[in-house]
Order: sequence, then C-alpha cells, then structure tokens
Amino acid sequence: MKYPFLDLGTVNEPYLPELREAVDRVLRSGRFIGGPEVESFEKALAGLCGADYAVGTANGLDAIRLIFMACVDSGRFRRGDEVLVPANTYIASFLGISQAGLVPVPVEPDAATMNLDTALLESCFTPRTKAILTVHLYGRPCFDSRMVEVARRHGLMIIEDNAQAIGATATEPSPRGTFVTGGLGDAAAFSFYPTKNIGALGDAGAVVTSDKELADAVRALANYGSDRRYHNIYKGLNSRLDPIQAAMLHAKLEHLQECNGARRTLAATYDRCITNPLVTKPLIEAGCVWHQYVVRVHDRDRFIVYLAENGVGTDIHYATPPHLQPCYKDLAHGPLPVTELLADEIVSLPISSCTSVKDAEEISRIINDFR
Ligand SMILES: *Cc1c(COP(=O)(O)O)cnc(C)c1O
Repeated sequence: MKYPFLDLGTVNEPYLPELREAVDRVLRSGRFIGGPEVESFEKALAGLCGADYAVGTANGLDAIRLIFMACVDSGRFRRGDEVLVPANTYIASFLGISQAGLVPVPVEPDAATMNLDTALLESCFTPRTKAILTVHLYGRPCFDSRMVEVARRHGLMIIEDNAQAIGATATEPSPRGTFVTGGLGDAAAFSFYPTKNIGALGDAGAVVTSDKELADAVRALANYGSDRRYHNIYKGLNSRLDPIQAAMLHAKLEHLQECNGARRTLAATYDRCITNPLVTKPLIEAGCVWHQYVVRVHDRDRFIVYLAENGVGTDIHYATPPHLQPCYKDLAHGPLPVTELLADEIVSLPISSCTSVKDAEEISRIINDFR
C-alpha cells in the first residue's frame, strides 16, 4: 500500500525519545502498579476535561463497564434497567452496559452526523431507562441541549463514551459550563487503545467524572472492590492503568493539540479535494477531532477494491452493528434502518499521522476518478 490506512510504528516514531524516557523513569522507580505516574496522568486527564477526578483503568471497555457497575453497586440503578445508546457504535459500548447487568436500548443515528439522533431519545424512554450513553463517534461530539433536557426531565445520567474523541469540543456547553468531551456528562469512559487519537503501547483506559461518590466507587471496583487494603466493599475487577502506560500516555498527551490539529487539516483537505458525487463526505465541524474520516458510498465494496488497487488502504467502522452480532441475537429492539444502511455504505479513509496533506490530496484525486 502506497497510502496505508494506519501504521502504528510510524505513528509513534516522533515520540520515541520521550517514550524511552518515560519507560526508563518507570523502570528506575520500581513502581509497577499505581503510584505517582498514574496519579499525575489522571490529574492531567481530568484537567483537560475540566473535571475533578480521573481513574485509570485497564482498557476502554472496562471504563464503560466500571461506570455502570458503580451505578448498580451504589444502588442508583437496578439490574435490568435500561441505557439508551446509539445503535451504530463499536460493540464495547453495548458490552459495558450488558456486563453491568443493564440493558442496552439502541437508538438510531442521524444520517448526517452519524451520531445518536437526540430527537429520538424521548420516544425510546421507558420507566426503566436510567441513563444515556452518548458516543462521540469518529471524534464528533454528540451532546446538545435536547439531550440535557430529556435527561433532566426523566432524571437520567448522561455517560460519555469518549474513546474516539479526546480533546473534542461540543457546540453547546454542559450544565457545568464546560465544552470539552469527557467533562460534558456525569461520567466519561476513555480508551487509549493503540489506534485511538492518543494511544498507549498496549491496552489502557480511564474514567473521568466530577462525581466524587462515583469516582470512589469506580476506583474501588477497579481494584477488587477494595476501598482500603484487604477490605472489599464490592465484588470488583482487577482493571488498573499500568504506570508504564500512564507515563507514555502522559508524554503523548502533551502533543494532543498538534495531533488533533493534524487530523483536522487532513479532514479539511479531503473536504476541499473530494468532489466525486458518488461519495458523500462527512460534515465539517470545528470541535470534531476526526478519529475517523468516514465517507458513504452506495457501491462500497467495489469502491474499497478500487482504492486498494490504487494503493489506498481503508477500513470499515463498523460493518456489523452490535444488534446484528450473534451475541445480541436476543436483544429486543425496534427497526434500525438508518444504522443498517450506514453499516452498508461507510468507508474510513486514512487520517492518521502516517498520511500527509499531499497524500490526502492524491487520495482525493484517486477517489474523484472512481466511476
Ligand atoms: C475503542 C472503543 C472502545 C473500547 O476501548 P478498548 O480500550 O479497546 O476496550 C469503546 N467504545 C468505542 C466507541 C471505541 O471506539
């Protein structure tokens, strides 16, 4: 591939000296679970979101699951309660809800933004609904006053799946007056899976919240349910952020603005250069951090083969929505035609630091020649 979709070796190359420095520091410290590296990264992450607390976790799925487990174990939610979630998300959003004993209720996306259609929230509400898990899909914030209004009217929590949108900004402020994703709702889950905008060199995640009770519950639950040594108040998990990952993530977090800025420039380049009427481009929004640049093409499979023949790597996020996965064959849901149409038409173009502006111009030229 002349234009690879993503190459994580190349992505991390500019940070090698800083990553080595971070690893060295941890090696010399002899502290391999918890400690100052994790604490200082947590502090930086909470600060970025304008929130009070961050708790490192082993991965993003656990971060989602721990938030919901904390809600159940603290008695705020009961098993079998429902969580509204966009139908067109990565399966981890659904799994995190299910694994806490709650029920994901898929809500259709708005085809224009590909994010949850907040106009549909009210119609999906039942007396068992306890929360909205909003997903900032592809790096585009999904948060507005309509969502806040529905949540307020029914006493729902707003939880953010911020795996794809670190550093993004919403167009409307949260009730606390903040704009940065991860600080908009009652709690947020982050993933630092290596392909995310800020990626670890392995698995890593975090929960961010300004709710002290929730933060304490998540911290205990992630550490065997222990609130102090050898004292277990919950049947918890072992899901902690490793100091070695925290140290490397902290180094990379310092480069967040330039990372996201480069993605914005590539998205603007595609937006300017792709003119093929067979290709529907995503909406450009200032606050979006472009984890993926996803176009829609009717004849998607032929488009992908054509691009591959011309040296352009692509991917699909995601070809099968969670409600069509075998593990959710028993999940009750209404018709989800928008979700299923999107799943058939979406294609992700290269948008990582492996791709230059010149590459994006050339990829656009190749796309414009698709007939
Ligand atoms: C990556 C991702 C997750 C899960 O994160 P992991 O760290 O891989 O467990 C959850 N939700 C979304 C939307 C994601 O993209």
